[in-house]
Amino acid sequence: MTTDLADLQPAPLWHYFLALSQIPRASKQEAVAAEWVAEQGRALGLTVERDGVGNVLIRKPASPGFAHRPVVAMQAHVDMVCEQNEGTNHDFTVDPIRVRREGDLLRATGTTLGADDGIGVAAGLAVLAAKDLVHPPIELLITIDEETGLTGANELRSGWLAGKYLLNLDSEEEGHVTIGCAGGVDTEAFRVVTWEPVPAGSVALRVKVHGAKGGHSGGDIHLGRANAIKVLAQVLGAAGVPFRVASVAGGNKRNAIPREAVAVITVAAADEAALRARVAEQAAVWSATFGAFDPGVTASVEPGAAERVASEGDGKALVNLLMALPHGVEQMSPAIPGLVQTSTNLGVVRTEAGFEVNLLSRSSIEANKDALADRIDAACALAGFSTQRVGGYPGWKPEPGAWLVTVIAEAWKAQSGQEIDVMAIHAGLECGLIGEKYPGMEMASFGPDVRDAHTPEENLSISSTQRFWSLLVDVLERLAKG
Ligand SMILES: [Zn+2]
Repeated sequence: MTTDLADLQPAPLWHYFLALSQIPRASKQEAVAAEWVAEQGRALGLTVERDGVGNVLIRKPASPGFAHRPVVAMQAHVDMVCEQNEGTNHDFTVDPIRVRREGDLLRATGTTLGADDGIGVAAGLAVLAAKDLVHPPIELLITIDEETGLTGANELRSGWLAGKYLLNLDSEEEGHVTIGCAGGVDTEAFRVVTWEPVPAGSVALRVKVHGAKGGHSGGDIHLGRANAIKVLAQVLGAAGVPFRVASVAGGNKRNAIPREAVAVITVAAADEAALRARVAEQAAVWSATFGAFDPGVTASVEPGAAERVASEGDGKALVNLLMALPHGVEQMSPAIPGLVQTSTNLGVVRTEAGFEVNLLSRSSIEANKDALADRIDAACALAGFSTQRVGGYPGWKPEPGAWLVTVIAEAWKAQSGQEIDVMAIHAGLECGLIGEKYPGMEMASFGPDVRDAHTPEENLSISSTQRFWSLLVDVLERLAKG
């Protein structure tokens, strides 16, 4: 360790962060790092428990005089995203992260830094190690595999934690407190297709929608971007001439807004010119409609090839379904200004033996999520598609008036002179899963400034981390004193 890292204050926090950085901890390969965390707890003489999936729970008694106060849980995840620049040749299964300082920032040479969420783990351990803090009874929950499956939170058992309050230490923006997230559920829709020979006298054409920006189906859903599948459905719906569907393919992930979609159709040779003219017209309409929000989106027609076509009824059912299915923001939150409460992403359409359509619906309100999935089921049923739901996980309903949120806001105001920004995100977080197992637990998430997480540019502000530490210490003291 170079001296410019050895001098960082508060020393215990940085000691834990730098020591953890020496231990490989890719998601699903973090067992050694999790055991190292457990070992730190044992070395402090604290009670340490592990569960079957590998989560770690360390309990620390209250500081003198506060044993009667409600237990406060702190929580962070031990795994990290492993990304590196080309040519770095870092082996994430054995090599330590090469942490370096650049002014106020810590970075890693050529790789992700793992401040997400190594800094949360380090802060939790530093609270356990500290002798001079005022705090209620504390438990530190360290979860595994947040980044590639939320596995630790998902497998967390109920009845293990005693906390009435939970401080999640996995946020990346100082001056913000996160108090809600969205749950999600996938819908897989399927229709058996009757295949027929290509009608005589027809030509095959590829109608393609492309050039859309795409984006994350949660975080970018409100940005007014094109869904290439929806645009393709509009273009086909406005074709103006009879056509048959040979195949449709669009999008490749349920959690990404589709950037491209292609239908191979056949039309009577005499109708080709009219079809091409109509698609060109539609391309102009939709690129003008999305305008600055998605300037590249367009539609075009190329020669195609088809060996079979779906029956007329099957083809019509697919196009009608793609037109009818919802996509995008369904409802904004009445509780948190600017927060998307409920949305769905029509993410994938494929032609295999039959037609397959996948959607990912999200909401911070469980009943709204279910109602939207019900609506999708109903539209699919009308179009003769069967559906199943997979991978459902719960949301975390924002409660801006909760006492814990007030305590954090007051502590931040006392420290910075500023109002804290109370926010929720339209994507999944561990707190959603934890809250499902611990109904009634008040939860909030905050952290220091981490920029460019999940990339080799990831960096952590040292001064922001110092303020994060002061905030955490003050919040614990306020929770102790009530
Ligand atoms: Zn994280």
